[in-house]
Amino acid sequence: MFKKFMARIFGRYAKTRHKNAAVLDARKYGLRRDQISNGSLRTVETLQQRGYRAFIVGGAVRDLLIGEKPKDYDVATDAMPEEVRQCFRRSRVIGRRFQIVHVLMGSETVEVTTFRGRHPGGAKGLTDNHGRLLRDNVFGNHKEDAERRDFTINALYFDPVAETIVDYHNGVADLKEKRLRVIGDPETRYREDPVRMLRAVRLAAKLGFVIDPKAQKPLRGLAPLIENVPSARLVDETLKLLMSGHAVESLERLRAEGLHGGLLPLLDIVLDNPRSERFVRQALQGTDRRVRERKPVSSGFLFAALLWHDVLDQWETLRDSGELPMPSLFLSMDSALARQGEKLAITRRIAGDIREIWSLQPRFEQRAGKRPYGLLEHPRFRAAYDFLLLRVESGEAPAELGQWWTEFLDAGASERAAMLLPAETRGTRRRRRRRAAPSAPLESADSTTI
Ligand code: ATP
Ligand code: MG
Repeated sequence: MFKKFMARIFGRYAKTRHKNAAVLDARKYGLRRDQISNGSLRTVETLQQRGYRAFIVGGAVRDLLIGEKPKDYDVATDAMPEEVRQCFRRSRVIGRRFQIVHVLMGSETVEVTTFRGRHPGGAKGLTDNHGRLLRDNVFGNHKEDAERRDFTINALYFDPVAETIVDYHNGVADLKEKRLRVIGDPETRYREDPVRMLRAVRLAAKLGFVIDPKAQKPLRGLAPLIENVPSARLVDETLKLLMSGHAVESLERLRAEGLHGGLLPLLDIVLDNPRSERFVRQALQGTDRRVRERKPVSSGFLFAALLWHDVLDQWETLRDSGELPMPSLFLSMDSALARQGEKLAITRRIAGDIREIWSLQPRFEQRAGKRPYGLLEHPRFRAAYDFLLLRVESGEAPAELGQWWTEFLDAGASERAAMLLPAETRGTRRRRRRRAAPSAPLESADSTTI
């Protein structure tokens, strides 16, 4: 009790400690401590009780102020990582280059970051030839921490104990005016970290904000710098964008700014071809719907959709030159993945998911005997079926095929049996099956008509 009282007093006192920052009464902006998650509130309270400064920061504050539900909660503090760890029994320090602490509160994980600053003596020797920061791992004070953040609306600090908002860069005003403004000189900040350009577009799309003209102007000219971003970060950012619930809008904006080529090497080709454009658009519309309904979306499914037409084009070419359908499908899959792999480090697990979704497609055409039952049992059936529906929706696979599977899924045992197509209609299969090795993907070779 006493500690809580002290913390409140401390919180009030803190108001006077923010030079150059506006300290706003959070309640006036509709922000109260009971709106944040229990875990993040307890984390901040504990740190403050131990005499540290601690705030909720970043996306959570931004989202709450505009009435959105935050995805997660980040805490910023002046306590060093090891000091944070000592405040919480269930916590661990993660990351080597820049340490952050994960505090476990019930089922919630709160990410606690120590204030970061700029390197002493400016960024000399710490950037590549284009101005990209190669290191960013110096602790700093609160003001410096606000300065190194990307956009004014992302640099708002909410103190849930005092119920104040600390605003160094007029972020609250920008939020009100629905404007995305870069902190500092936009060109320098984009050069330091070209991912910020993608973040600008993603955030503007997600929030329905305009990008401030000063922040927008350098985008087109600096777009090629995205090429220099390490691929693991690019995958992270691409996934964030695709899973934001605003993927269609984000991609449209990226295209308008000339930034889309850097994300996936083939995205510009995919979007310039009407057939694949329609497919990708439908895939992303479906994903956006799912995200907004808070249903899970898989990264494998997304990448499978983005790259499918690349696979299809090659597959068609190979088959036209007389290659067998299934081996040429596998060849086309490999080369589509390899081409993306040069730029995008798609993890092995995701690549495995993508392959499965693709390679199950021809099996949907086998609707006689036991095969449909086998496919239903496949662990990736659901994703593959959703993918089939996408192909149907875009006109690439026959509507009748999608309908058959939808009905088959719903049907009871006897209805299913009645739905099976007679084996005879599959002409050569019987002869082939006796000859061919029964390996799952190859056995469908004779019935592939995609
Ligand atoms: P989201 O809703 O997508 O999580 P977010 O703003 O919380 O949005 P995070 O990636 O979780 O995005 O980052 C948390 C905070 O860290 C941001 O709000 C911003 O203050 C800061 N930040 C993230 N990436 C950068 C960057 N590339 N440059 C500068 N600051 C960044
Ligand atoms: Mg976040």
